[in-house]
Amino acid sequence: MALIYKMWKLCKLGLLSLVRLFIPRHCVVCGACLCEEEEVLCLRCNMGMPRTNYHLWKDNPVERAFWGKFPLGRATSYFFYQKGNEYCHILHQLKYEGRKDIGVAMGRMVAADLLRTGFFEGVDVLLPVPLHPSKKRRRGYNQSECIASGISVLTEIPVDSVSVVRIKNTESQTRKSAFQRWDNVKDIFALRDSSAFQNRHVLIIDDVLTTGATITALADALENVEGLRVSVLTLAMATS
Ligand SMILES: [Zn+2]
Repeated sequence: MALIYKMWKLCKLGLLSLVRLFIPRHCVVCGACLCEEEEVLCLRCNMGMPRTNYHLWKDNPVERAFWGKFPLGRATSYFFYQKGNEYCHILHQLKYEGRKDIGVAMGRMVAADLLRTGFFEGVDVLLPVPLHPSKKRRRGYNQSECIASGISVLTEIPVDSVSVVRIKNTESQTRKSAFQRWDNVKDIFALRDSSAFQNRHVLIIDDVLTTGATITALADALENVEGLRVSVLTLAMATS
């Protein structure tokens, strides 16, 4: 049985290499052809990625963004997102071009880096920021769920994408003022099953942190859960 499994794995690898020979994969940032070991990003773009390394700082700017909003365990964003920067392609392709594989691969990359620093210690469950069901249907997936599933592969922390729902389909936040953003997301989430988070340490996962309004609205929806601890991890952090 083990031999058959090994042979199947070898055949699968061979087939994959053959497919990649005819359909080359490209770096999502610079467009260069990726080699076998590279995933989503080429080595050069991976090395040059504007990582925040905020997970190594106490009271880092992401944590400070939530001060006074809700009780926070720890928080970080993985890389800086600046409009017009070539690394924007990661988020654009993930959200608007159907590339959910980018979310999973980036989630794995984030987890591999943060695991060694103990960032995930004590975390019981990953909570991707829910999309409104109609938006999820339109897009075909929730990009934050993709990131969470990549993180889960390495950390083995389960993902909960059912216990909280988005009950309001808000307009895009991008063209709104800071005040409008906070108003726009008030009461947009509803907790379906509070027992899922009782006495748990929940890590909220999102793609981009801008004002923190959406994540705060999600934390607010959980505020009456007994013994809850909330931490935050986003793939990117918007800078002006
Ligand atoms: Zn590249």
